[in-house]
Amino acid sequence: MEIKVITKSKEQTKELGLKLGKLAKPQMVFTLTGDLGAGKTTLTQGIAKGLNIEKTVSSPTFTICKIYHGRMDLFHFDAYRLEGLHQDLGFEEMIQGDGLTVIEWPMYIEELIGDEYLEIEIRLLDEDEREFVLKSNGKQYEELLGELTI
Ligand code: ADP
Ligand code: MG
Repeated sequence: MEIKVITKSKEQTKELGLKLGKLAKPQMVFTLTGDLGAGKTTLTQGIAKGLNIEKTVSSPTFTICKIYHGRMDLFHFDAYRLEGLHQDLGFEEMIQGDGLTVIEWPMYIEELIGDEYLEIEIRLLDEDEREFVLKSNGKQYEELLGELTI
């Protein structure tokens, strides 16, 4: 299943993230693809809100992973700096924990990600306009998209 959503501001992107966060279940994985400045971290801020996380989510670029506690834990990865390194990050243990894993730049740790995940591709249309293409890989993600009301 594939859904396309256009947002016209950072706030609308956070709103979309909030809805996704509310629908997230333990052990789910969301991958976020898109250029620098596309809105991956902004969407994650909304997702965190949907998990009742009160702390402000900031880019984990230099730390690779940040963990936040809410209704469910959020494991927020940014694999940008791992390009070509093929590191073992203890990543699998994390995905198996009772949290939601959100990964920016998933292509750099592709081999660590399983077959089932929600793929989110962000396209820059204009200065404040973004297109989100949400694709389900696996039944539980299809169900999630089925429950998403835009
Ligand atoms: P990334 O993590 O993909 O590099 P960020 O979320 O850190 O991107 O940054 C997105 C930037 O784009 C922010 O400066 C934000 O204010 C701006 N922006 C403008 N319009 C939008 C929109 N519709 N959705 C998300 N961000 C937007
Ligand atoms: Mg980012």
